[in-house]
Amino acid sequence: MEQASLTYTPVDEIPGIVDKVRKTFRSDVTKSQAWRKQQLDALEQMLLNEQDSFLGALEVDVRKPRQESYASEIAIALEDIRIARDNLHKWMSPESVKMPMLAGVGASTKVIHEPLGVALIIGAWNYPVMLTIGPLVGAIAAGCTAVLKPSELTPATSLAMEKAVAKYLDPAAYTVVQGGIPETTAVLEQRFDQIFFTGSPAVGKIVMAAAAKNLTPVVLELGGKSPAIVCEDAKLDSAVRRIAWGKFYNAGQTCIGVDYVLVHESKYEEFLTKTYETIEKMYGADPQASRDFPRIVDKRNVARIEALFANESVVFGGEVDLDDRYISPTVVRNPAWDSPIMNEEIFGPVMPVIPFTDLEAELDRIIDGEKPLATYIFTEDHKTADHILGRVSSGGACVNDTLTHVSVGRAPFGGVGQSGIGRYHGHDSYLSFTHRRTVLTRTTAFEPSFLYPPYNATKDRIVKAIV
Ligand code: NAD
Repeated sequence: MEQASLTYTPVDEIPGIVDKVRKTFRSDVTKSQAWRKQQLDALEQMLLNEQDSFLGALEVDVRKPRQESYASEIAIALEDIRIARDNLHKWMSPESVKMPMLAGVGASTKVIHEPLGVALIIGAWNYPVMLTIGPLVGAIAAGCTAVLKPSELTPATSLAMEKAVAKYLDPAAYTVVQGGIPETTAVLEQRFDQIFFTGSPAVGKIVMAAAAKNLTPVVLELGGKSPAIVCEDAKLDSAVRRIAWGKFYNAGQTCIGVDYVLVHESKYEEFLTKTYETIEKMYGADPQASRDFPRIVDKRNVARIEALFANESVVFGGEVDLDDRYISPTVVRNPAWDSPIMNEEIFGPVMPVIPFTDLEAELDRIIDGEKPLATYIFTEDHKTADHILGRVSSGGACVNDTLTHVSVGRAPFGGVGQSGIGRYHGHDSYLSFTHRRTVLTRTTAFEPSFLYPPYNATKDRIVKAIV
């Protein structure tokens, strides 16, 4: 599979690009509700009209099936845009605040919202449209301008995005910078008012260090090892199907994808057998020939993933075709906890399955590691589900399902601990780019003179009588 080529932004042009969107922000044009709505409308039109070019580009980059691309890239971004547009008036309205007794004498307070300013949005390659356009919805809704840096690893999609953004949005306010590490490093040397990064925890630390130089706030949407836990009472057929879908969707290259599976010992062998059957049902006897099974983003990642299972007990799949960037859906039986596959985010179509007898011991083991981006619990008993949710912290979670919590556009999406900082989607997207500013207004009709020195016993009595 040949990849498209992408022209990178010359590094010496980057300061001028950031200056341009900063000038636009300072002109105040982005602050009115009408302007924000108009840009959100334009963004919606962009996704509707240019859908074919995005879906085609995703096919070229990673052979993503169009149905998966539509559901996971276009539909989620459209939902985000529509929620923001429909709620913008409500979100932008000043919040009234009940005054405390002492400060409330002759005064009122409201919380007004102001855009943070110029945002930098750095996207990852695995859902290159949604992970860049999703945060942009929040930036527009909040009245910020933005520089977008899509991933260099999906060149056709990043190029389609550059053209579409220039065609539909105000080019003085929203602009795309293309490039790899040198260009992103140059962008990060500029001063921003908010940085929204989606990618690996390792690069997240680089981004946060760059942001720290200017005390720029960050939202970091990172990854981790998200477990699926199949309890003794789980409905096995449905658990197997939903876990296989959540593992092999986008060939395992999903931040909230199932990383590994813990299965109660009593169900272990049956879980494995049913998983093999399910993979064949989903992708046929030869998944390489299936139109529904995508490719790995690049050869470097094929080699990385292959090395993770090279020394493991592969009980299904395990085929690799480097030139086609193909790894078949693969199942690994009971890897050791200290093996590489259990200590690195797999981010590929390889499913380690581990039996357990003592649930509490497994939960302890998860808690000993970094907090994952998602936890998937399979049980028919809500008390068991609540118990696991209470013990294991993660960005989000599903009970008896995988992945789908990300599509609930009105609910926050984000990590915790090493899986991320901050959240977005729905109202949280708007809040991520907004400063909530408390403004107190006091009447000048009289003086609350008991507040001011010199203090005395009478003033003290008044203060104590009020509070
Ligand atoms: P990555 O961290 O390698 O790259 C992300 C972005 O950072 C890209 O735009 C890239 O150009 C840039 N970048 C890479 N190295 C850099 C460096 N040294 N300095 C500055 N910029 C650099 O991540 P990826 O491989 O694109 O994506 C995979 C990771 O992203 C996984 O860990 C996955 O879990 C995570 N992810 C998280 C979410 C989420 O919403 N939480 C979504 C998708 C992916």
